[in-house]
Amino acid sequence: MSGCILYRVAGTIRVPVKKEAESSAARQGESEPPSQPMRWLLVSPGSVFDQTDRVLWAQLQRAGWFQGQVDVVARASSWSRLLAEHVPFAASGWVFPPASLRRSVWQAVSSVHQGRLLSRLVQALAGRQLLLSEVKQAVLELQATAEPAGQARPENEYDWNIRFLETLQHGYLQGLFDWLPAMAPGRGASGFRAGARLRWLKGLGWLKGGTLSSSDTVWQCNRCGAQEVVTVACASCGRKDCAYCPHCLDMGRVKACQPLLRWEAAEEPDTAQWEGNQKAVVCTWQGRLSPGQQAASEALLRFVQEKGGQQEFLVWAVCGAGKTEMLFDMLTYVLNQGQKVLVTSPRRDVILELAPRLQAAFPAVPVCVLYGGSGERFKPGQLFLATTHQTLRFARYFDVVVIDEEDAFPYHHDPMLPLAVSRARKAAGKTVYLTATPRPDMAGRVKRGDLAHVLIPQRFHGRPLAVPRIRPVGRWRKKIRQKEKLTPLIDFLFHLMDNGRYGYLFVPQVRDIELVQHYVEEELLPFMRAAWPMLAEKVSALFTVAGVHAAHPDRVGIVSRFRQHEIRLLVTTTILERGVTIPFSDVAVLGSDDAVFDAAALIQIAGRVGRKTADPVGYVWFLPEMRTKAQQQAIRQIKQWNRLARQLSGSLHRDGSPQGSGRPHGSEARGR
Ligand SMILES: [Zn+2]
Ligand SMILES: [Zn+2]
Repeated sequence: MSGCILYRVAGTIRVPVKKEAESSAARQGESEPPSQPMRWLLVSPGSVFDQTDRVLWAQLQRAGWFQGQVDVVARASSWSRLLAEHVPFAASGWVFPPASLRRSVWQAVSSVHQGRLLSRLVQALAGRQLLLSEVKQAVLELQATAEPAGQARPENEYDWNIRFLETLQHGYLQGLFDWLPAMAPGRGASGFRAGARLRWLKGLGWLKGGTLSSSDTVWQCNRCGAQEVVTVACASCGRKDCAYCPHCLDMGRVKACQPLLRWEAAEEPDTAQWEGNQKAVVCTWQGRLSPGQQAASEALLRFVQEKGGQQEFLVWAVCGAGKTEMLFDMLTYVLNQGQKVLVTSPRRDVILELAPRLQAAFPAVPVCVLYGGSGERFKPGQLFLATTHQTLRFARYFDVVVIDEEDAFPYHHDPMLPLAVSRARKAAGKTVYLTATPRPDMAGRVKRGDLAHVLIPQRFHGRPLAVPRIRPVGRWRKKIRQKEKLTPLIDFLFHLMDNGRYGYLFVPQVRDIELVQHYVEEELLPFMRAAWPMLAEKVSALFTVAGVHAAHPDRVGIVSRFRQHEIRLLVTTTILERGVTIPFSDVAVLGSDDAVFDAAALIQIAGRVGRKTADPVGYVWFLPEMRTKAQQQAIRQIKQWNRLARQLSGSLHRDGSPQGSGRPHGSEARGR
């Protein structure tokens, strides 16, 4: 059951030529297809192919298409060990059969008909790289949806397994996918060192029983690129030191004794489907773009239309500029080219918010939405929305990748994510970044002219961004514990009540949430009620306060109650710094001098307010103990955008056309 087998196949294969190819063969005066002598190495994971390989070669021999010998060269416990130990064969004239040959062999034995299931599998799994267990899951799901209830799985599990493996054998011979070792010894070009993180995981007690591989045997996970793995006794291969990758464990366990199946993607974009029936992708969004959105939209369209050239483009747009709408023209174009598009974000909230909007804009396009727990894991699609984690399951598939909020946690804290996203794209594909707060290295590339970009300093409704006001509060934690009154916080609550507004109150740490929520409910509200009797009505039970953080058991419920205006004041951490938009709300940041609030976080937080046409302004308070560089930077940046936006709309006003000044909305610049 375990391990894999290396075969040597020597002999002559005479593959019948398919009908379509006959005319060209006839032109060359060849009536008989050529015989091909061969010296192949065929690696088969034993548990998969042991039963089916023999059948295949026997069939070929009976039909007179193959003459020669098939020998088992070696058996090994793991795929990668086998390759490592027997690679010298390849150097001595033995080669692995190329996909084209495998395909011919398959056509020769197509008497065992597996076509229907395979063609559905290919559709569903194109571009993906999956563990064997995941492919099995996909087949089960496909059968459950495709076969009438009465006919589903008549065989017992053993027979079903054999049939499943036969199907894969045929798919492999057709060149529909490649087997890769899930883990390989040696250091690949695109790996990263994961040792420090592993030791940290071990320290937390999350990894038990395993030993970190020593530094002299370097292993690399072929799915996530982590170098350094954990070795444990393994039930499936029986080895005491089978390796697995703890880094991408959340996505299913990658083991050295398991193969990774990389499914082919069509090399040429599939435009035939549109040319045949004159069907074209239409964007049904009816709104109007603001001048800033229009400029970005045009720049993006030029970027994807240009063959070759730039492969990366940054849309640097302030919070509330309306990024999604800027994508529509570009998406319409690439979808009409039959290209595959991925929209990805480190934030699941962002994906969940985008998915219905994109599906509504492109109702005829198959959209596949992927996140942990999504029910569309193996759905075929043309437009994919996925969290950055999910891109681990793709390889070289997408023509265009859009990364929304690429600077958001945890994208740059986890080296596997940028690696996975870049591998999901075709080598010649294009990447679009969307963010209000590019990380310093990206901003640096913009400054040096190394990154093509467009800057949109203006919100879609044309009103300026709210400039934060600083109101120092001193040592607030100590004051709260001593039940002193924080006047700036009282002022904020006053403002919310007086103006019928809703408030975000950001705090630095999860443990501050309860402290502050309790303080507001038990100290400030009763105090305000007593001190200003005419406020009593406004400070009544209607003023609901709630707290939420990333691991809160009812996070989704609380945010949705806030969205529906059932909560007046939400005490929260930076998890709500982006993605959630609530009209008629204002923001205060208590402890805005804390290190968790860097300039980017403060800009994103300030960007929560004034995002709707009905409520375009909003207020932002910073309530720090001290002044910090981050706060000053954030304020300076926001003021600078407002200045730029004023200049642009001024110039717009004068020439009456967004094209008039030549550089209409922000500086669109081209990198080298
Ligand atoms: Zn991994
Ligand atoms: Zn194993």
